[in-house]
Amino acid sequence: MLSHRFKPYHVPLFLAKYAWLAARRRPVLVHFEVTLRCNARCGFCDYWKTPAEAKADELQSFADAARFFNPMLVTFTGGEPLLRRDLEDLVAAVNEAVRLKYVTLITHGAMLTAERAVALRESGIDQFSISLDYLDGRHDVARGIPGLTERIFRAVDAMRARGIDNIRFNTVIKDDNLDQLLPIVERAASLGCGVNFSVYTDAKNGNRTHLIDGVRLAELDDAVARVLDYKRRRRGVITNSDAYLEMVPQWVRGELTEPCRSGERTIHLDPAGRVKRCPDFPTDFHWRDFERYEPIDCDACFYACRGEAQAPLRLSRVRDVMGHARPVA
Ligand code: SF4
Ligand code: SF4
Repeated sequence: MLSHRFKPYHVPLFLAKYAWLAARRRPVLVHFEVTLRCNARCGFCDYWKTPAEAKADELQSFADAARFFNPMLVTFTGGEPLLRRDLEDLVAAVNEAVRLKYVTLITHGAMLTAERAVALRESGIDQFSISLDYLDGRHDVARGIPGLTERIFRAVDAMRARGIDNIRFNTVIKDDNLDQLLPIVERAASLGCGVNFSVYTDAKNGNRTHLIDGVRLAELDDAVARVLDYKRRRRGVITNSDAYLEMVPQWVRGELTEPCRSGERTIHLDPAGRVKRCPDFPTDFHWRDFERYEPIDCDACFYACRGEAQAPLRLSRVRDVMGHARPVA
């Protein structure tokens, strides 16, 4: 599912850039964590405890780093990136620095308005990814933001009305939202949006509350099977590969043994420009001193960014990329 900004002829250009980066063993995807501050209160992440003074260490531009890595995929993330009032400038500078790329913004959505989204799109954001783990008040409680779910849907309606065509919900599969996976997909489809799933881990701060335990495994199998069935009938809404979704129950059961390739194809830069192999590992060096990462024997998470790197490229993946989520009644 690509933004309508991109045309089919862009696909071979992206494939060529991917091959070029892979041959040089350079990261394909660079996440810019523009701040670690956050105004949510999630129980499974401690970023919101970042003191306000941390703002002083945040880079005023990520353009030099973007030019250095010249990635194919760029993500602006946090913390909550919309807390940066200069986010549009940060995006525009990176947009200017890298020619062929696809740029995503990850946000909890509480501060997203159609006006800001339009400004960000003009600065270079191609895709808006909004966290959404439940369709009901459980999402507000989990994120510690009253009225959040309603705010998200209000913003999405307004963004769609302004012609923003590539909005995705990022949904974390947890112990208590297995009943929500397909309804979130159906709601997204009705709005002309997409959904990308990840699976819950306690790697962020050790909170094991939402791990999927033995009694829920059959429920997980069933929920994933329904999502896959939907995906095979209608491409372009669910943006994970089939292979990733098939591997989720295997990872939860501890059946996957492949080393993690985070750091090879994807890296994270913290707000001060220090590099880490993934969001949950400490930083290793400044981006100017970048050294290639090797695969690591870690199985602490199965985020989509980790799992997709392990997923084989199948024809269905190409159909996913070319499919578009058009609103359905
Ligand atoms: S998970 Fe996201 S929204 Fe929640 S505290 Fe962490 S950065 Fe903020
Ligand atoms: S499995 Fe990979 S991405 Fe996940 S925490 Fe470990 S090193 Fe990071």
